Amino acid sequence: MSPRAVAAEVLVVGGGMAGTIAALAAREAGARVVLVRRAPGATALSSGAVGVAPDPFALPGEPLRAARGPLEAARRLARLRPDHPYAVLGDRLEALPDALAFATRALAPLLAPPLERPRFLATSFGTAVPAALCQRSQAAGDLLAVGGTLVVAGLAGHLGLDAALVAASLERYRARGGPPTFAVEVDAGLGELGLLRPHELARRLEQPGAAEALGAAIRAALPAGAGAVLVAPVLGLRPEAQVPERVAGAAGIAVAELLADVPSMPGVRLQAALEAALAAAGVEVVQGAIQGATGPGAPIAAGATEITAARWVLATGRFVGGGIARRGTLREPALGLPVQAAEGREAGVDLAARPAASLTGAARVGPQPLLSAGLRVDARLRPLDARGRPAAEGLHAAGAVVGGHEHASDGTGLGVAILTGYLAGRAAARPGGGE
Ligand SMILES: Cc1cc2nc3c(=O)[nH]c(=O)nc-3n(C[C@H](O)[C@H](O)[C@H](O)COP(=O)(O)OP(=O)(O)OC[C@H]3O[C@@H](n4cnc5c(N)ncnc54)[C@H](O)[C@@H]3O)c2cc1C
Repeated sequence: MSPRAVAAEVLVVGGGMAGTIAALAAREAGARVVLVRRAPGATALSSGAVGVAPDPFALPGEPLRAARGPLEAARRLARLRPDHPYAVLGDRLEALPDALAFATRALAPLLAPPLERPRFLATSFGTAVPAALCQRSQAAGDLLAVGGTLVVAGLAGHLGLDAALVAASLERYRARGGPPTFAVEVDAGLGELGLLRPHELARRLEQPGAAEALGAAIRAALPAGAGAVLVAPVLGLRPEAQVPERVAGAAGIAVAELLADVPSMPGVRLQAALEAALAAAGVEVVQGAIQGATGPGAPIAAGATEITAARWVLATGRFVGGGIARRGTLREPALGLPVQAAEGREAGVDLAARPAASLTGAARVGPQPLLSAGLRVDARLRPLDARGRPAAEGLHAAGAVVGGHEHASDGTGLGVAILTGYLAGRAAARPGGGE
């Protein structure tokens, strides 16, 4: 059977946050867009809250005082980290507020309206992290906005969350503007919970009456002066099941999910919301993988489809998504672009050609060159070849495939994906790939 031929103006490779925002931005600019994706990537593993830029000048242990808006914090970060995509973008970093507003509009059913400052959200380990955007189910947990005691509610018999430990750990933020915390254990009659995994618990809470039972149990356990309740991040898988709303309605108080570790139900919901946004915008999505491509202009096979587009956005992610592969050394499988790494003041393709294990440092919290390896781009997000020249006509890159940031751990991952996706999608939508 001969492949189905599709012609588009823009081909986006990758269906995570970066690829989806790029496709939506190109579509909004009027381009015919096709998006190819192999599978969910890091976006679906994320906590579902968007880290843009933790203020690098915040004092250790005082995260709640670092309440600068995302653009100012990103400018500060760019000044300190010349390899970070925010620095590489130069003046284009100023598009960050537009990009965040665009993403908020595109994902309006899922995301809470942003504040001028980041929200400080609690993790399942009892730490607080700043998020420029978060899901509606997470917003009421903002440590600076809880009016009263923050109650951490664990499910009796479930071993996945130690509410007492989380509450005790969050107490340390109290002297710095956080709320008093209190732990309760609630029995919602949901059956044997023991070692249920997050998706099993989420599905159980979607069943008729289950979310209401949890809400009622929370209501019965609330101490005097409670201002909001934090629960495990398992409030349903399908947004249409409306589990957070049903729990909060029955509890009679604002209820928020803690930020998730892997596997993350809010991450799965974020991925589902991206896919819904693509469908609503009329972006054709092709299931398949691009490999060994020569670049924009030439037809390329993805599954049973052959796509031709003059401009491409490569948004294939890093190690989780598959945009950068580690087979002894580091490589970029879709187009064979040079991967670059930086160690101290040294940077370039030669470093990336070293055995990957040699790019890790013994100090776990120190910079890990392996984890920030990726494509090098110019300020217009054009991938560069080994000599620093644009690698191909009409090619842009966005998201975690772009190196220079430790996307999974430096608090900028989804923020970079949104900004670079937005800029790359708009640039690709214009003839010639320029701006
Ligand atoms: C465990 C974990 C937790 C994280 N938590 C957070 C968080 O809480 N907040 C935050 O801001 N950031 C977080 N990050 C970082 C953030 O998730 C990523 O930086 C961001 O999701 C990257 O988005 P992306 O679209 O570039 O890549 P991905 O989401 O990885 O998407 C890559 C896409 O490309 C596709 N693809 C790859 N190769 C091909 C190919 N050859 N052909 C076709 N398709 C291909 C993949 O199938 C996938 O669809 C976390 C990362 C990890 C790993």
